[in-house]
Amino acid sequence: MYDLIVVGAGPAGYTAALYAKRYDLDVLVVGEDLGGLCSEAYIVENWPGTKEIEGKELTDKMKEQIEDLGVEVVQEKVDKIEGNKSFDVHTENRVFETSSVILALGADKRRLNIEGEKELVGKGVSYCVTCDGPLYRNKDVAVIGGADSGLKAAILLAEYADSVSVFEATDKIMAEKIMIQRCEQNDKIELNTGTVPKKFVGDNYLEKIVFQNGEEVDVDGAFVEIGSVPNRSIEKIGDREIKRDEDGFIEVSSDLSTSVEGVFAAGDVTTESNKMRQIVTAAAEGAIAAYSAYTYLGEKEE
Ligand SMILES: Cc1cc2nc3c(=O)[nH]c(=O)nc-3n(C[C@H](O)[C@H](O)[C@H](O)COP(=O)(O)OP(=O)(O)OC[C@H]3O[C@@H](n4cnc5c(N)ncnc54)[C@H](O)[C@@H]3O)c2cc1C
Repeated sequence: MYDLIVVGAGPAGYTAALYAKRYDLDVLVVGEDLGGLCSEAYIVENWPGTKEIEGKELTDKMKEQIEDLGVEVVQEKVDKIEGNKSFDVHTENRVFETSSVILALGADKRRLNIEGEKELVGKGVSYCVTCDGPLYRNKDVAVIGGADSGLKAAILLAEYADSVSVFEATDKIMAEKIMIQRCEQNDKIELNTGTVPKKFVGDNYLEKIVFQNGEEVDVDGAFVEIGSVPNRSIEKIGDREIKRDEDGFIEVSSDLSTSVEGVFAAGDVTTESNKMRQIVTAAAEGAIAAYSAYTYLGEKEE
């Protein structure tokens, strides 16, 4: 019987385990993809104290740190969680018992699912302007997606890149007026509508985007900004629904408790941190959730 099981082995899950262990909780991490989305980051330049580090190296270090403290990390997918106040966490072949749970399931940038996309992630194709934008200084880049997040991305990219072409699939740029104005006033930014990407082309690195209308555009980088999707692999505890917002993010209070007692959530999957979805916010939420689980377990004992 564990005090706490953390589901998710990304920055939120690893940090939750780090804090939980230091609160002397008996904690287990169960994660399907070790390192989570963070391990996809080609280079991370905004993790405080480290000028640059590959995402995978960063999460490997996080894992090593908790394992050195005695935390067990199991690479398995959690299929379901059952119970009330104490919980059974089911993977394909095992059931782990615990008094509390932190769901650190992450969120994924929505993908285009077109030819060449998967192969060129981290090699010109990116889903994170905050993270990778500075790598495109004096380059020509594209933003796929002309809603608010796409235009925000374009404005940020224009600080580094020589040119930023925004490609929106529909016939209209559907973003806040002020964002559209800012883009129109920026000489580096060009807005295109009715442009649906068909494939990304490049041998080892992105070279061009081919569109469904036959148009081809040479670019050094392409940022896909068509929204993000929270992980929904765990929706219920037994037959109790974990409350989510209309976009599917787990609703949490400021202590990161969910609608189910004894179940907390942290990182990209939650409605917290202004939905910033960064490593530093995921880690911070992991720490808060661990503290809340520790407090919850203490109160339960009294
Ligand atoms: C290409 C790229 C580059 C990025 N660069 C940066 C950057 O430079 N700086 C930055 O701050 N952010 C960056 N990000 C964002 C950053 O990766 C995320 O904000 C961060 O990883 C979120 O951490 P998390 O722990 O909440 O979720 P994740 O890292 O996504 O981890 C989720 C974990 O939950 C596991 N999981 C989900 N469901 C289950 C289940 N049912 N059973 C078991 N395990 C499950 C997953 O396998 C995974 O281990 C980047 C993202 C991408 C895609």
